Amino acid sequence: MRLCAALILLLMGRSAATAEQGWVDFRVAGPFICRADFSLNGHEAVFSELAEIQQDLLQRLGVPPGGERIEIYLFQNRSSYESYVKRWFPKVPSRRALYIKNHGPGMVLVYLSDQLHTDLRHECTHALLHASLPMVPLWLDEGLAEYYEVPPRERSHKNPHHSGTVWSYRFGRIRSMQNLEEKQELKDMGRGEYRNAWAWVHFMVHGPPIAREELVGYLTDIRLGRPPGKLSDRLARKFSNPKDALVQHFKTF
Ligand SMILES: [Zn+2]
Repeated sequence: MRLCAALILLLMGRSAATAEQGWVDFRVAGPFICRADFSLNGHEAVFSELAEIQQDLLQRLGVPPGGERIEIYLFQNRSSYESYVKRWFPKVPSRRALYIKNHGPGMVLVYLSDQLHTDLRHECTHALLHASLPMVPLWLDEGLAEYYEVPPRERSHKNPHHSGTVWSYRFGRIRSMQNLEEKQELKDMGRGEYRNAWAWVHFMVHGPPIAREELVGYLTDIRLGRPPGKLSDRLARKFSNPKDALVQHFKTF
């Protein structure tokens, strides 16, 4: 489970937080501007993947680039990350990685670990979505971030949630989309909620084309300011039993 704090609204000035730090490396990729307090040599591939997520969001889900830059701050260890967050964002809960949206560009903060690239893909997915869309329901925001957090070649078949999903369905533990839609706060999102949110996203992206069309239509309505309704209601108009369609998808995929 990725613990992150998406869309934290802050009143603090961002410019202050970008100053006074000993940044030693700097990269630009797509809308992302990255500063790091350690050398980024050897991490080139992940920046290409971050830019690729934006292309994928457009091609698969009809979410166009938001037209604003996204700032990434990388820290060489957890203590430098935590001292930075504590100093500039003292009200932000302690998380292993952060996406913060102020009135200006979104900010992604991550520290160097063996999960660095996964954390980056996850948090930057939140940033890309919120740069383009005025809102994203929490469960769908996390489901999409879980989907995109693995490298591109692993997204369809090798996400770590896959086997747990298949096993839980064998025991009849299937979470409805309506149940996930009731989750309004990050504290309501536990391991099971993340896995089930991923499963519904995987179903809509790789399952029956009509499911993806509904997701695309839903995100388009949000982006254009049209009342989107509930995604679960929209799917229920296309599938006689959406939960059965979800289970069937994972039996055959
Ligand atoms: Zn997240």
